[in-house]
Amino acid sequence: MSFVTRFAPSPTGPLHLGHAYSALIAYDMARANGGRFLLRFEDTDLERSKPEYVQQTLDDLTWLGITWDAAPLFQSQNLDVYNQSLAELISQGLTYPCRCSRKDIAAALSAPQEGAPHHLYPQTCKHRAMSDRAEGDAIRLHMDRACDTLGNMDLVFEELGEINKGTYHIDKNALMRDVGDIIIGRKDIQTAAYFMASAIDDIRQDITHVVRGVDLFEFTQVQVLLLHLLGHKPPKYYHHDLIRDDAGKRLAKRDDARAISKYRNDGATPNDIRQMVGLL
Ligand code: GLU
Repeated sequence: MSFVTRFAPSPTGPLHLGHAYSALIAYDMARANGGRFLLRFEDTDLERSKPEYVQQTLDDLTWLGITWDAAPLFQSQNLDVYNQSLAELISQGLTYPCRCSRKDIAAALSAPQEGAPHHLYPQTCKHRAMSDRAEGDAIRLHMDRACDTLGNMDLVFEELGEINKGTYHIDKNALMRDVGDIIIGRKDIQTAAYFMASAIDDIRQDITHVVRGVDLFEFTQVQVLLLHLLGHKPPKYYHHDLIRDDAGKRLAKRDDARAISKYRNDGATPNDIRQMVGLL
């Protein structure tokens, strides 16, 4: 069986315990299956991504005993690839341009008679055609049209994690109700949104098993839909539970107190880290 997995950090902060957990699970799975483990830096956020975080991530992973089987992929060097996929969805008539600012969206959502659920885009620009796209507009997925293309097809993916284990059937109504017309083309750097770039790269890197936190479960469903629209079969997914702080909150990038480099400086060993995340 071919087994290729990856760790795909966004280098916008130091690697913390939650990342180490994810990377170690993926790495252990690759090695246990005689497979390959790849690295990808999701650095399309050009403002927040920093070379020093890339270096620190490489150092921390090496210290943890993790090795990777090919040169890391940097998304910032592949923006044209994501643009091609975006162009494909545009040509399928599944998108519209959006000029709304965060402020416009907040104002529309606070209007009492708005029909859209509170957290969704209020569809202000939905009537606009792509030919009307102005410089600086974002591109949104026309979610109901995208779901319509499925007809009666049952869109599924294999979930190997403990949560929702098995064949997961994507609920189109839930996508329309809970996700809505998400931005798939960013206005700031004119390329695909990061979850779209990530799905495309899982195909480009021939990833067979995506290992990631359960907080990305909703993204996975959108990604499987996008991959289907682009003519790709999705990989299998393993959503793992999350490492939380003492108050039960998910660790965030700014949680420097949980940074691997801090534990290293305090004299912890890689096995101490494995123990802390429950992998030993
Ligand atoms: N880049 C994402 C993060 O650092 C992970 C994306 C993924 O696993 O697909 O949270």
